[in-house]
Amino acid sequence: MFYELLGRITFLAVMALAALLLVSLILGILLVKKKRILLPKILLFTVDHFYFQLKKVASMFGVRESIVDQIGIELRNTLGAQSFAMVEPKDRILVVPQCLRHPKCPARLDSTEGILCKECGLCVVKDLKGEAERLGYRFYTVPGGRFVERIVKRVRPKAALGVACYKDLNMAMHELSRSRFAVQGVPLVRDGCVGTEVNLREVFERMRLGIEDAVASVSPCEEKTHLSGR
Ligand code: SF4
Repeated sequence: MFYELLGRITFLAVMALAALLLVSLILGILLVKKKRILLPKILLFTVDHFYFQLKKVASMFGVRESIVDQIGIELRNTLGAQSFAMVEPKDRILVVPQCLRHPKCPARLDSTEGILCKECGLCVVKDLKGEAERLGYRFYTVPGGRFVERIVKRVRPKAALGVACYKDLNMAMHELSRSRFAVQGVPLVRDGCVGTEVNLREVFERMRLGIEDAVASVSPCEEKTHLSGR
C-alpha cells in the first residue's frame, strides 16, 4: 500500500515536472521569437532551477539548447531594466570579452584591470570603451568569468552590463542577480574564442537605459556601425 502510494506520487511529480518544462519552453520561445512575456517569474524559476532538464527537453524537440540561455538573458533584461536604469552611470560597469579584440591587438593584459585597450581602432572595443566612458561607466575587457568576479569584488558597482556568449552571459547574470545586483546583458551574435561579433547598437541602447540626455549626443562610431565585430 505504502509503495503503491509512493509510486503514484512519484509518477504525478514526474508528469508535473514534464508539463512545467514543456510549458516553460513554449513560453520561452514566445518570449524570444515574439517578445511576448508571460509568467516571467515562473519562467525564470524553471530556467534557474531546471536548466539542464530544460536543455534536454529543448533538444528532444529539435530546438537548439542555447535557447535556454537566451530565455534567461531576455527575462533578466526585461525584469531588471527598471532597476538598472535607476543606477547612476558612475556606479555601473560595462564588461566585454577579450575575444572581441582584433587578432593583431597591441594591448596588454593587466592583472587587475583586464586588457588595457590602446584605442588603436582595429576592433569595436575602442567604440565600446569610448561610449562607456563618455556616459560615465567604468569599462573592462576581460579574459574570463573569474576576472569579472574579481572586478565586482574590488570595484563594488551597483549595476553591470555584460557582453558574452549565451551560456557565459546567462550564468554571469544569474550569479550577479543573486546578490540583488542590477544586471543587463547583450549576447554575442557570433561567438567563439576569436573573431567574435556583437551588435554595437544593442549595447549602446542598453548602456543608455535611464540616461536621459545620452541619445542626444550620438557617438561618431554609431553613425557608421550597426553590427560589427572587427
Ligand atoms: S581597439 Fe581593439 S585591437 Fe585596438 S587596442 Fe583596443 S582592443 Fe586592441
